[in-house]
Amino acid sequence: MKIAIVNLGQIVTGDWRAPLADGDSILTDGDRIARLGAVSATEAESADIVIDAGGMTAIPGLIDSHVHITFGDYTPRQKTVGFLESYLHGGVTTAISASEVHVPGRPRDPEGVKALAVAAHKCFEGYRPGGMTVHAGSVILEPGLSGNDLGEIAKKGVWLAKAGFGAFASAYEYAPLIAAARAHDMITTVHTGGSSIPGSGAITGDHLLALRPHVSFHVNGGPTAMPDRDFERVILDSDIALQICTAGNLRTGLMCASLAERHKAFARVLIATDTPTGSGVMPLGMLYTIAHLASLGGVPPERAIAAATGSNARVYRLDTGVLAAGKAADIALIDAPEGGTQETALAAIRNGDIAAVGAVISGGEPRFVGRSRNTPATTRKVRVAKCTLPRDFAASAH
Ligand SMILES: [Zn+2]
Repeated sequence: MKIAIVNLGQIVTGDWRAPLADGDSILTDGDRIARLGAVSATEAESADIVIDAGGMTAIPGLIDSHVHITFGDYTPRQKTVGFLESYLHGGVTTAISASEVHVPGRPRDPEGVKALAVAAHKCFEGYRPGGMTVHAGSVILEPGLSGNDLGEIAKKGVWLAKAGFGAFASAYEYAPLIAAARAHDMITTVHTGGSSIPGSGAITGDHLLALRPHVSFHVNGGPTAMPDRDFERVILDSDIALQICTAGNLRTGLMCASLAERHKAFARVLIATDTPTGSGVMPLGMLYTIAHLASLGGVPPERAIAAATGSNARVYRLDTGVLAAGKAADIALIDAPEGGTQETALAAIRNGDIAAVGAVISGGEPRFVGRSRNTPATTRKVRVAKCTLPRDFAASAH
């Protein structure tokens, strides 16, 4: 399938170093972006589908790097079916599992946690609820696991490892397992802040600096924050990615973003939701945190979007999250919400409004064109100007 998106008002790339691109159109071919900026009339003519963006803003599909996946499109914590499809209507096209800790009765022994990670990974290899790409299967590091165990599941495809909910007496005991996971080329993540499960102790700056994971999960608390003084140390004394979560502490999230900016470490700032959790199912969580950083934290909106897209992709080694030729065709069209005070999507975000999503394309396929069932309506109108396929891309009213 080839899609031409024409009549764009602005293109946000997702690359924090060069967050805006010139041009007014995008051409996709299969699951890739074929051309960005200037699509010729002949190329648009050759497309199966032409989407007239009506002056809206294109951004990469958002990447939520902290989603509490279990199995299927279901969250046992909030007893809700269809949450991933609902998140896609918030502009999210990629969800990365924060480990399958919410599976009821989850196993805690080495064979059990290995099997859980392998099963979750395989269950989502070809399953895209609502068009969402899901990277699942994050092994929960527990006592008794060995480096060989991690090597065994790495061979089966598992590439995520999570420290924080294991039955260790001290968080320092994760260190050898994190080192082993890294040796098997896994992306390692550590719960940060107060315990979100009763009985597990707080994880603070000292632990992060000793454990050296790739990512500090909810650096701003999940939901309880570590001491303020630890943020600058983690920024200055490590290269750990700083994942700011919607379901965390807002004040320390803003503080962390501004400290990262001051110390030229903004590339390490990632946005994620840490949902569904006790904080609920939050389909617009990514858009909220983007708006919070831009309106309260002084982060330019296009850079906040980069933290939610290209920076997540770089840290997690994903071939999406950036609008450029050759990258995955995961694209959201956003706009100023109808009835607001601002003219464009970026101005609305700077104003603290939630951007309105007008269309989402993931894996090179339009998932809906017209109106998200979760965001406010767009100011401008997007329409399918041409479609040679027997398909209807209007969002069904749920
Ligand atoms: Zn979490």
